[in-house]
Order: sequence, then structure tokens, then C-alpha cells
Amino acid sequence: MPATRLPFSAKSYDFVEYASCHNFIGGELRPAASGETLAVENPRHAKVMGKVAMSGAADVAAAVASATAAFAKWRTVPVKERAQVFHRLKSLMERDLAELAWLVSHENGKTYAEAEADVLKGIECVEFGASLPSLVGGAKLEVSRGVTCEVSYEPLGVVGGVTPFNFPVMVPLWMLPQAVVGGNAFVLKPSEQVPYGAMKIALLLREAGLPDGVVNVVNGGRPAVEAVVDHKDVVAFAFVGSTTVAKALYARAAAHGKRVLCLGSAKNHLIIAPDADVEMTAQNVVASSFGCAGQRCMASSLVVAVGDVDRIIEAIAAHARRIQLGAGMGSIINEASVLRISRAIDQAEAGGAKVLLDGRGAKVAGAPGYWVGPTVLDHLRPEMPAACEEIFGPVLSIVRVPTLEAAITLQNSSRYGNGAAVYTSSGAVARHVAAKLTAGMVGINVGVPVPREPFSFGGWKDSKFGHGDITGLDGFRFWTAPRKLTSKWELQPDANWMS
Ligand code: NAD
Repeated sequence: MPATRLPFSAKSYDFVEYASCHNFIGGELRPAASGETLAVENPRHAKVMGKVAMSGAADVAAAVASATAAFAKWRTVPVKERAQVFHRLKSLMERDLAELAWLVSHENGKTYAEAEADVLKGIECVEFGASLPSLVGGAKLEVSRGVTCEVSYEPLGVVGGVTPFNFPVMVPLWMLPQAVVGGNAFVLKPSEQVPYGAMKIALLLREAGLPDGVVNVVNGGRPAVEAVVDHKDVVAFAFVGSTTVAKALYARAAAHGKRVLCLGSAKNHLIIAPDADVEMTAQNVVASSFGCAGQRCMASSLVVAVGDVDRIIEAIAAHARRIQLGAGMGSIINEASVLRISRAIDQAEAGGAKVLLDGRGAKVAGAPGYWVGPTVLDHLRPEMPAACEEIFGPVLSIVRVPTLEAAITLQNSSRYGNGAAVYTSSGAVARHVAAKLTAGMVGINVGVPVPREPFSFGGWKDSKFGHGDITGLDGFRFWTAPRKLTSKWELQPDANWMS
């Protein structure tokens, strides 16, 4: 068996090669059955840091078989014991925080601070999973004379999840704690662009005492994903990624009769009212738009400027101009994304947008990777692609509208409804706007309104397909089935029609 402790030695942004990222099946690291691999690039350096297994149906079948065998025992382990694994995982992730953060920074291109935040947010998800036994005890009630009804949340069986490139540690941990503490066995297919975060989580889970086979990681692309969705023994499936894929996989899994939840893309509107605090708004919008180089489904990508807010726009552009590429903002995931983002800026400019800040062609000394600098585009028309389509890069588009109602109408017309926010110093304006926004996660003077545990994460409209949210108690409900048990132990002399 290959080693299952593979420390990552990086302590800075300097390029470091890493071990091959095999699949993790039945507690063992194994290459894909076909031997196929794909290069994993360090986007800061545009250099291959390792290779990832590219799996097919045979690998998925092996992972499902291992999960099926493990599930038989794991489902019988009391929930309090299952949660202990996640208490230990939390300690191990804290022990290896710097190693994990450098790994995420190298495979994804985030700055160290952003990579560390990915890991810390993942740890918070683990902490929530560990706390589930205190939260999920079922109710019991005497519902009629001598008759009690109780509910328990039962595991579903072997379940699957697929995750995107932008949060290599956090997003897998949106799924694993609730599903595994819930008693299921899991097959995870992480993004082939950033496979190492999930590999480390799997190895740490093993070190934390999780029985082999309860969590399996199968790497690869579309064929691996489709094999997970189509496998007859995978009974529930969750996905986080782009809307096109989310919608297709939602339909595909549902056609198999599976329980399915798929989170998709976003175009998050930030409405700025004229009474908004200039400095707080500017700093917050900049952090939201350019954090993680805009590669966040909760990034603000569209400011809806209401009336005369020129001084706030100027302050936003001034703050954005001060961002130091490479130190304060990381790189773009790959060359194709740089080209896509640059094309979107070209197209907006050709359509009449005013480019207040231009990140095209940006370079960082000593790091010949994939870069786009912070970009601010003003005076877009709402129907222009940069105003209504997801760019997924460091591009902030601005549409000017005359009234708050026009701003609300614009947000409501978006096909996406992940996040939205309003900036104002008026409680009345905040309540009025927040109540009318059609988005699952709404901020008041908060540009990245990600609900922290125990609140759940999930959007509306084309940002999510399926019922419920992915994190919090909704996640636990998604990965479990409520069993309602009704019992009677004595003949009741005063029985009525309900007894
Ligand atoms: P993506 O959809 O390209 O890939 C996500 C996953 O799906 C990867 O594991 C990939 O291997 C797989 N995949 C890609 N194409 C596929 C296909 N045709 N069939 C089956 N599987 C396929 O997304 P990405 O580029 O990795 O991530 C960025 C996207 O994810 C953005 O649209 C972003 O908004 C979205 N996202 C959404 C949320 C959310 O919570 N709503 C969170 C993070 C990212």
C-alpha cells in the first residue's frame, strides 16, 4: 500500500513539486485502473506540480463497492461515536493548518491568507459535523392514548458528491461531515484542477480513525462524475459547480430516481444607495469583488449604483487600484480562464463600458502564471453580458439606475440568485430592499453574506437545483431519511378512534 502520510513541504509561494494524486479507495491510495493521469498546474507559476488520476467507471465501481462494504458496519456505529472522528479531524486539521493552506495556495493560486481561510472555514464545517449529535436527536410524543410517535434520521447508504476548483478544502467539507456523521458511506469526486485538498482530507480522516471505505475519493473529469451519478448503488448525489453542469446532473440523477441537490453559478448584485457609508462600502465591495481573484460564487460581480454615488465608485476604484497583485490578490486558475475573463472585458469595452481600472495583461515579477488584475467597468447596460453573465474573475461591473425600485427590478430579473446585498445607512431602506431581493443569501452592508454555521448555505433560482441547502441542518436532512415510528404496547380500555 502506498504511504498515507504525504506531507507537503512548501513554506512559501516558491514552486514545489508534489506526489501523484491517486484515488483513495478502501483506505488505500491507488492509481486509476486505466493508468491515465492529468497534469495539475500551480497557477501562480504555470508549472506542473503533480499528476492526478483520471478515473472511469471501473474506478467508481471499485469505490462504490468499498463504500457498500463499509456502510454495513458504519451505519450501526452510534452517531456520537461517528462524530468523534470529526472531533479528531478538527484537531488534525489545526495541527496541519499551514501545510494544508500552502497546499491550497499552490494548487489553486489563492494567496496564503485566502488559502488559510478556505481551511479555517472547512474546520468550521467539521466542527458543525462534530456537534450534530447535540442537534439531531429526533422528537418523541404520545400522540394518542397509549400510542407514541417518534422520528429518527437514518442513513441513506452510499452517496456521492462532486466539487469545484475554487475552495479545495471547504466545499468537500460542506458535504462530508453531515453525510458521514449521518451514517452514510461517501464517494467524493473533487475538481481535477485542485485534487490535493480532498486527498489530504481523506488521509486525515484515516488518521482520525475513520474506518476504511467510509470515505472514498475518485479523481477525474466528466466520465468519473457521470459514473458516480449513474451507479445504481449511489442513492443520493450532491454537486457544487457551474450552472450548466449543475442543471444537467440534476436532471440526470433525478431521472435515475436519486435524491439530488446541485448548486450552480452566480451573478451577485450589490445595491449601493446614496446614503451608504463611503469608506465602509468601498472597502467591503472591493474585498467582495477581488478576494480570491473574484473566483468565488459569493463574489460581488455587479454593483447597482442608485442615483448619485460617484464618490463611492471613485473610492471603490481607488481601493482596487491599491491591490498588489501576487501579494494581496492571487492568480487565476488556468490560461483558458484568463482568456475568457479578458474577452469579457474586451467585449464590455467594445459595447461602450467605461474601463475605470484595467487588469488585462497583468504580470507579477517572478511568477509567470495566470494573472488578471482588478478590473472595474462602469456604465454597463443591464443586457450586456458583463452585467448579466458570470465572469468568475476579478471584474466588477457597474450598472447605474435612477431609483431603488429599478435596482430591485434589475436584481429580480437575474437568472441567478446566490447572493445579493444592499449598502445603506437607513434601516428602512435596508429592510425594504432585503425583503424584495430574490437571492438565497442577502447581506446588509456585507458583501459576502456567507451564512456561517449553523446557518445553511444555498442560493435560489438558477444558482441551485433541488430542495434545501447544502450546509447546516439542511445538509444533515439531505443525507438522511426520517423514519417515523409509531408504537403501542398495551390495550387501552379507553381507546378512541385515534388509538
Ligand atoms: P465546473 O462546473 O466546471 O466543475 C465542477 C465539477 O464538475 C468538477 O469536479 C468537474 O470535474 C466536474 N465537471 C465539469 N464539467 C462537467 C461535465 N460536463 N459533466 C460532468 N461533470 C463535469 O465548475 P468549476 O469551474 O470547477 O467551478 C466554478 C463554478 O462553480 C462557478 O460557476 C461558481 O459560481 C460555481 N460555484 C458555485 C458554488 C455555490 O455554492 N453555488 C460554490 C462554488 C463554486
